[in-house]
This record gives sequence, structure tokens and C-alpha cells, in this order.
Amino acid sequence: MSIAVNPPPSLRSFPISRSPITRSPRVTMVLRSSPPAALPILTKLQNDCATPLPLLRNIADAMAVEMRAGLAVDGGSDLKMILSYVDFLPTGNERGLFYALDLGGTNFRVLRTQLGGRDERVIATEFEQVSIPQDLMCGTSEELFDFIASALAKFVKKEGGKFILPNGRSRETGFTFSFPVKQTSIDSGILIKWTKGFSVSGTPGKDIVVCLNEAMGRQGLDMRVSALVNDTVATLAGARYWDNDVMVAVILGTGTNACYVESVEAIPKLQGHKSSSGKTIINTEWGAFSNGLPLTEYDREMDAESINPGEQLFEKTISGMYLGEIVRRVLVRMAETGSLFGKHIPEKLQTPFALGTPNISSMQQDTSEDLEAVGSILYEVTGVDSNLDVRKMVVEVCDTIAKRGGRLAGAGIVGILQKMEQDSKGVVFGKRMVVAMDGGLYEHYPQYKRYLKEAVAEILGPELSSHVVIEHSKDGSGIGAALLAATNSIFEH
Ligand code: ADP
Ligand code: MG
Repeated sequence: MSIAVNPPPSLRSFPISRSPITRSPRVTMVLRSSPPAALPILTKLQNDCATPLPLLRNIADAMAVEMRAGLAVDGGSDLKMILSYVDFLPTGNERGLFYALDLGGTNFRVLRTQLGGRDERVIATEFEQVSIPQDLMCGTSEELFDFIASALAKFVKKEGGKFILPNGRSRETGFTFSFPVKQTSIDSGILIKWTKGFSVSGTPGKDIVVCLNEAMGRQGLDMRVSALVNDTVATLAGARYWDNDVMVAVILGTGTNACYVESVEAIPKLQGHKSSSGKTIINTEWGAFSNGLPLTEYDREMDAESINPGEQLFEKTISGMYLGEIVRRVLVRMAETGSLFGKHIPEKLQTPFALGTPNISSMQQDTSEDLEAVGSILYEVTGVDSNLDVRKMVVEVCDTIAKRGGRLAGAGIVGILQKMEQDSKGVVFGKRMVVAMDGGLYEHYPQYKRYLKEAVAEILGPELSSHVVIEHSKDGSGIGAALLAATNSIFEH
């Protein structure tokens, strides 16, 4: 539960231009011969999902307030505001051979990169992707880490060509690990619990770096983990390597998260941790944000039936795992009470998560006159036949959900920028500032991306938003973890 915290006075004097609140004109599509009973359902959905400017501003303000509460004390907010122990970001001067290991889902990736400093930059990079066998996802900790270490050992054996390990050094790797971890230093962290279908026995409560190091030892692999990071932090590092103005990173994929550069003075709960740079990266875990979200009956039902009811509400409203499912739930209601697809409700449509976010995104890309692609996706995925009016109605539903998601994500980004500016005047606004974005949803859903950017511009106004660059940083996280291994190399200090 979040603790209500009064916004500090600085919030009220925040320099965002607050022009008189005007509602943007609502365009309601007229769906002439579509089943009339489904139309009120669409209208109600559009009203419930509306994200007018005042609502977006409230979200941004609340995000800033929650961030501050989470920084004050552990457990002080929905937002965990986790210390990453990353106090230095790549500068471009890094040199040498570094590895990265990325474990965050059913695949893991291994990567090596040869860094040549300011002039040569990335001399070469190679990576491999290995899928984790289903039985290992529910086996023992030793089995899982042995499998990972052995794949890594095989990859290391193929090292050659442009990849050169300087004399007297052992190999170092960054470890991107996207599960809940209680980080204790840059190279150690206790697994709180497995998620995303993993239920490996013996790991929770243990230091996962120790688990990996022991497994590498058993494989006879001479390598140490010098940085344990989550994917958001790795994305920030990867983007910063190329662009000094990157201060925030946001992941919008299956789930969502954000991290940013914070000043240590702005972290009251920081005890004992000294940062010689005066800065540290905070992992917000913003998916848990919940204040003031415009939720519908469909969101509430989906949440109630989820494995984590009441949790991750921001994530459930804006991220890729859920957008398609919300649309499906609306379509079921339209079928039940609005006879959208005729007398019967197709069975396939009633299967939870049958409609994926890639499906709704594909439907929105259909520019043909008769919406042929929409028709065939509906038929293939949900087993329904549709006429043009039904297809138009379905696209409107997709757009409503994508628009709400994109705009709320944009408001969340503004919340982070506001928080940074309020606590360190001049760090964000009035000069160029980059937000690095990654994740399949952001990358592959153009309407969502557009809504997100529009919302940021709308909230900030033309002057402030002209300095804010929202930039896709493709696969920055892989190389980002290797760069953080370099930045935190024991051989450099
Ligand atoms: P992950 O978040 O699992 O690490 P990605 O960043 O690749 O992986 O994101 C994958 C997610 O992106 C999918 O679960 C899906 O929700 C979303 N996605 C993938 N392709 C598309 C698409 N074409 N349109 C919209 N969303 C997509
Ligand atoms: Mg990912």
C-alpha cells in the first residue's frame, strides 16, 4: 500500500506551463450498420479510458510523489525505488574484452564485446541465444545454473579473432537478471522469488551471483561477474555509451519498468552506501504504480483473475502482456450483450490471452478499405467471421486501449522528469535530455509510440518538450551489461 505524502512546495512551483485546461474535442466514430447494442459498450469504454490532460498531469504528479516516498524509506510507496549500486555509467573510454549474460525469460543470451576506447569504440560484438529447456525452469538451482554456465563455457571456447583478453586478466561479465532481486552490492543480490513461469528450487534467498560463480567454477570457466543489473539499468548504460544526455531508460515489452540517474542527496533511505560520483541509478519498478489510473470493469476483472491481484496495476494498463487481453475482454462483452459476432460467442474468443498485443497492433496497421487483415486476424485468432462494421468497431477498441496505455506511459515518463527537476534544478529541463526506450511493445506498435510521445509533448508544452528526446535504444541492454562489467572491472581500480 502506498503512504500518502504531501507534495513538497517545489511541486506547486514546478515550471511546466499550465495553460487553461481545455478538453480536446472528442471524435466519436459513427458505425452505421454495426450491431447497435455494441455501440454503447464502445462509448462507455472510450469514456472510462479517456486520458485528458488534467488526468495525465495528475498521474505525472502522483508518480513524482510516489518516487519520493519510495526513496524516503523502504516500503514507503508502491514504487520500490531499488538501489542498483551502479554509480558510474559508461563514458566511451572503456577498453578490453567483456562478456554479458542476459537471463530474463525463456531465452538467455550470451554476448562478448571488444571495446577500443574513445576512438575505436565497439571493435566487435558477438552473441548467441539459447532457450532454456522447460524442465530446467522447474528443476533445481544447480541444474539451471550448470546449464547456463556450460552454454557460457561453450561460447567462451569460440573466442578468437578480434577478441583479445589482455595478459594477467581474467574474463569479466555483466549479468542482466530480470527477476526480483534484493541487491546488496554491484556484484551481489539475493533472489526474492522467481517469476515468469520459473519455479526453480533452492535459489530464492540465495545470492544469484554466487550461484552463477559456483556453476562457472564447476565448468572450469575462468570468469567473474563484475556487475549484476536489471534490464532497465543495462538499457540506460547501453544508451549512455553513445549519448551523454541519456538520463532515463524505460522498458515497454511484456512487462514494463523504468530507471533514472539520481543524486545521492535525494535518497534519504540510502544508508552506508557511498557513491564517489554523487549519483546512482535507481530502478523504480514503476509497474507497481497505481494512483489515479483510469481503470475499467475489464481491467478490474482481468486483475482479479490474475496471479497477482491488486499488484502491478500500471503494468497491467500499459504493457504488452495485457493490452491484447483487455481488448479480448471488451470484445467478449460486446459479443455477449451486443451480439457483435452474431448469436454465438466464439469459444476461442473466450480463452484468456487468446488475443495478443501483436495481434491488436497488426490489426491497427491495416489500411485497406475493407479491413481485410483485421478480418483474417479475427478469424484466425478468435474464430469469428466479421463484416466491415464489426471490423471498424474492433479497431476502435484496439485504439482505445493502446491510446490509454501509450498516454499513461508518457505521463509516467513526465513524472520521472518532474521528480528529477524538482530535486536538482536544471538537470532536466532547458537543455537536451534523452529518454532511452526499449522493448517489443514500444518497438513494434507505432500507434502506441505516437500516443506516448504526444502525451509527453502535451503535458510538458512545446518549450520544455522540445528538449526532451525519446529515443529507441535497440538491444542496448546486452551491450549495456558488458559496458557495466567494464565500468566496474576489478582490473581498472
Ligand atoms: P520481454 O519484454 O519479454 O523481455 P520484448 O522486449 O521483446 O521481450 O517484448 C516482447 C513483448 O512485446 C511481447 O510480449 C508483446 O507484448 C510485445 N510485442 C511484440 N511484438 C509486438 C507487435 N508487433 N506489436 C505490439 N506489441 C508487440
Ligand atoms: Mg526484455
